Amino acid sequence: RLRNLVQELKGNIRVFCRVRPLLSSERNQSERPEHIQFNPHDSKVIVLSRTEESHIGREKRETVRHDFSFDHVFQPAASQGEVFEEISLLVQSSLDGYNVSIFAYGQTGSGKTFTMEGPDNMTFGTTGMIPRAVKQIFAGAEELRAKGWSYEFTASFLEIYNETIRDLLVSKPEKEYEIKRVCNSNEDLYVTNLKYVPVTSEEEVNHLLCMAKTNRSTAKTAINDRSSRSHSVFQLKLQGKNTAKNIQCTSVLSLIDLAGSERLDKSLSTGERLKETQFINSSLCNLSQVISALANKEQHVPYRNSKLTYLLQNGLGGNSKTLMFVNISPVEENFSESLNSLRFASKVN
Ligand code: ADP
Ligand code: MG
Repeated sequence: RLRNLVQELKGNIRVFCRVRPLLSSERNQSERPEHIQFNPHDSKVIVLSRTEESHIGREKRETVRHDFSFDHVFQPAASQGEVFEEISLLVQSSLDGYNVSIFAYGQTGSGKTFTMEGPDNMTFGTTGMIPRAVKQIFAGAEELRAKGWSYEFTASFLEIYNETIRDLLVSKPEKEYEIKRVCNSNEDLYVTNLKYVPVTSEEEVNHLLCMAKTNRSTAKTAINDRSSRSHSVFQLKLQGKNTAKNIQCTSVLSLIDLAGSERLDKSLSTGERLKETQFINSSLCNLSQVISALANKEQHVPYRNSKLTYLLQNGLGGNSKTLMFVNISPVEENFSESLNSLRFASKVN
């Protein structure tokens, strides 16, 4: 109760920062990354700093410090369970009729997919936010049944690559997918030709998640891992009704693994790669514009400027709740990308 109240007072947009641990293959690079520090007195502050030789021939060294503050900072040792604990209230609120959107933002290799889905060799402890959220939703619906509520669930999973939608729940998508608006009071959005699968259990959804993973990896080519260049959007629609009380509620829980935010050297990237980068840059930039327009309560919110924000329009703004994970790599070489991600995230915060 109290936590919910505190959340209400803080508004509906939250940003969590998560720094992944060094992988065993990266260990010899820098035993302990010194450029990232966590403020021991405040779990919400992260400091990124770099020592630079300021002038050739001079002794002087300069440390450039950047302080960032978020709603929560997860240090490398944080487990998937600990991370989920911080989002579980948010997930739960989708059963109460709130639209909830959770994003993972960061450069390729920073831990977005690990956070959202879990690693390839998933174990019980390392399952990601999507399967955990699904588990909680079904358990929560079961509990609410005693209070007279019954729910219907519909799942979909798509990816947006170069502003083109592809259904991840079919192995050979041939159709054209377009975002359309339903003419009803909610003005719901849907995608033409997309598979919307009615689901009744956690297992059924997990099966769909597996299918999406397979479909995505078969689309991967040797030169280009498309999955890191596209946004993947998992959506679960919840329709609850309580016949005794004669009330209904509908909401959508959206979990989004964004395309890698790294900037490519424009002089080096050409053709397809350049096109991809331009599409990614403009859609991520549009996402930040939408979120900051909402945070600043601006009149005009530019939802229509990209497929992603158009599709998620009802899940952003209004009485919906938004959470962004900014994933950070601890590798020193990635300093400038990490700095960029933190800057992006503090803009939407
Ligand atoms: P992204 O989706 O942002 O490209 P990944 O999620 O694929 O990044 O993560 C890159 C690598 O780091 C993977 O091998 C992944 O298993 C590992 N990794 C990421 N986050 C963690 C974490 N919190 N704990 C352990 N390993 C992680
Ligand atoms: Mg990934």
